[in-house]
Amino acid sequence: MATISSDTDMSLSKSQCSHSDNKDGSKNTEHNLPIVGDRVIEGEGTSQQAWQNWQGLHDLPRLDISKDFSADLTSSEPSAVSSNSLSTIASANYKTAGQPPRVCIFAPHPDDEILGCAGLLQQLAANGNPLLLVYVTNGTQSHPDSAIYPPHKLAVIRPNESLAALEALGIKHQVTSVALNLQDGQVFEHRHLLHQKLKAIIQPNDILVTPFEHDGHPDHEATGQVVTAYAKQHSLACYQALIWAWHWAKPADNRIPWQKAVRLELTAEQLQRKVDAIHCFESQVSADDSTGNPPILSCQTIARVSQPWEVYLYES
Ligand SMILES: [Zn+2]
Repeated sequence: MATISSDTDMSLSKSQCSHSDNKDGSKNTEHNLPIVGDRVIEGEGTSQQAWQNWQGLHDLPRLDISKDFSADLTSSEPSAVSSNSLSTIASANYKTAGQPPRVCIFAPHPDDEILGCAGLLQQLAANGNPLLLVYVTNGTQSHPDSAIYPPHKLAVIRPNESLAALEALGIKHQVTSVALNLQDGQVFEHRHLLHQKLKAIIQPNDILVTPFEHDGHPDHEATGQVVTAYAKQHSLACYQALIWAWHWAKPADNRIPWQKAVRLELTAEQLQRKVDAIHCFESQVSADDSTGNPPILSCQTIARVSQPWEVYLYES
């Protein structure tokens, strides 16, 4: 496992870092979608240091888990869900009053829940919120033409890596997961199907967490758009996590609605667990010898999301 000692010594020299321009097999420059636009994931992206040095990030309002994700005593609350079948989740008995609400975390690909939300997950688990992790795809297209990671193997490997990551966070036993099995790289094309599947999962008092609807990766943007629209339609609280936005955006970038941003503080221990969890995604952090391609998650990318904070966009 990687180790860290402070929030400032995570910087890695270029010589230590390989990098890839894209991930999940979805070069967004190759997509002709009415999303993504100029939010292009290419090159090394904005450095971890540039984000650390931006005062605007330090000035953001703080997210308070015990307050913002607390029980609404007037509403019914979820009981534990022990199966990962959609029908069981939909018919779960939500009647125990006074418990913190369930939180549904949407990961377009297994790893997004950790890259964007590992700190939030740890704090929600400690707060007692039931957690439902929703894999929108199984991330099968991250290694085109690979002999080591063909799609049928990735369909098993990546969800298993996610489980190992939850174990590294120490919260695996508190998380229920469900896979929606949409095709990796085609969430936008199947957005209506995603909307239908949400109806089978989401309960009236859930809080939703999704990637930013303008995060820069087509699957992230499509997931963000569908989930935020569903939340609005059903008057549910919804938080949008920044993941690939850290790559293409610049400090104070006006393509990000910073006025909606809230900052979650991570303790040193929570950050260490997050870094350990990221390194559980061996398929994403290792070079592919069969294709000669560098790791999907470059050192820069890992460093950028290994900060003692996470940022979410929230509109009340
Ligand atoms: Zn992703």
